Amino acid sequence: MTRRLFGTNGIRGVANEEITPEFSVRIGQAIGTFFGLGSKILVGMDGRTSSPMIKAAVEAGLASAGVKVFDAEMLPTPALQYAVKHLGMDGGVMITASHNPPEFNGIKVVYSDGVELDRSREEEVERIFFEQSFEQAPWHKLHDPKKVSSILDLYVDAVKSHVDVEAIRKRGYTVVVDPGNGVGALTTPKLLKELGCRVVAINSAIDGSFPGRLPEPTPENLGLLSETVKAVDADLGVAHDGDADRAIFTDEFGEVHWGDETGILVMEHLLRQGKGNVVVTPVSSSHIVEDIARKYGARVVWTKVGSIVVSRTMLKEGAIYSYEENGGIFYKPHQPVRDGAMAVALVLNIMASTGKTLSQLLREQPKVYLVKKKVKCPNELKEKVLEELVKKTEGMKRITIDGVKVLFNDGAVLIRPSGTEPIYRCFCEGYTEERARELAEWGVNLISEAVKKVSSS
Ligand code: MG
Repeated sequence: MTRRLFGTNGIRGVANEEITPEFSVRIGQAIGTFFGLGSKILVGMDGRTSSPMIKAAVEAGLASAGVKVFDAEMLPTPALQYAVKHLGMDGGVMITASHNPPEFNGIKVVYSDGVELDRSREEEVERIFFEQSFEQAPWHKLHDPKKVSSILDLYVDAVKSHVDVEAIRKRGYTVVVDPGNGVGALTTPKLLKELGCRVVAINSAIDGSFPGRLPEPTPENLGLLSETVKAVDADLGVAHDGDADRAIFTDEFGEVHWGDETGILVMEHLLRQGKGNVVVTPVSSSHIVEDIARKYGARVVWTKVGSIVVSRTMLKEGAIYSYEENGGIFYKPHQPVRDGAMAVALVLNIMASTGKTLSQLLREQPKVYLVKKKVKCPNELKEKVLEELVKKTEGMKRITIDGVKVLFNDGAVLIRPSGTEPIYRCFCEGYTEERARELAEWGVNLISEAVKKVSSS
């Protein structure tokens, strides 16, 4: 097996244990060598306690390779990505562990187009890192880092340019924002104020100990957001993850809606306006995507789970829109990466143009019931079991790019091996609760039979 550094979304590890200063200098050298002597690299960070230390080390490594370092300081990941492309940088590095718990940190590497490196470029960085074939620039080719200011303004203006600002302003919405003590606090409240909203911000002091809630905006972490939406009689609640590329919403009653619901809302709104005829989404998204796309004559391209592969597929397929069920919304006219502030602006734009509340809008969508199951499977058998599952579902309408997803007319079953535990996960959805349960039973049986067959052979 070749050694890997990059996971599905950058390099991640526990700060100062795995992501040490020594490691960070070397990865900085590898990234700098990859981009080359004299290239311009924008470096930013989230609000984690370990981010300044790691950023300083990465910058030292980059500078050692003769890179011109531009310092964006603290900002959301999508703001850095936007700036990389629009300031004409050769690349970018973001120090963040996104939604991971406080002890983690990580490194995302962005290409000149503002999108994270694709797998083949990551492999090139890994090769340089493990071979230690670092460029070491001579003393007279080393550059002073330069601070870049006003990226936040540039970014917020860019987001606003894609929505009807006047129509949103006229509604005078009240919005509760929960950046979860993350860097979304720098941009989303500002965006909302400029959209004429009354803004109530909670957990909005950037703090790497994440005193308000964990950085992942899961429904169980968003109790305070729900309560506040109700208490101040708000029209909308929004929560971000630690680096604000994801957005999860509550309606005006404080009910949290998972990313599938708002992702599909935005998708249908765009298709209805005749914007785009291809939708890209990972296999973890609801099968409703197929139904809605069909209604508007659009094509669905399913991808593996992971935001980078989604972005890269969007570019390849010429898609203008994509979403992930975890609250990632990708809107290519702005940028083909997930962007929490853009998601907020798009949802408000739909509310303003229709005059409907979020709960009304979501009630108009088909309701889906979810059942999640797991089946034990030893790690060493997982690959064989997957082959068996592929065999067993032959002839059915299915997707086999990441686990097996079987699509029915009234539901779907997604079967994937867990990356961390000795289990297979089975996600089932149906238009009725009964159908979801039926499909779950079918899926669990299918996995159990496959595990049994493989272990006895
Ligand atoms: Mg994130």
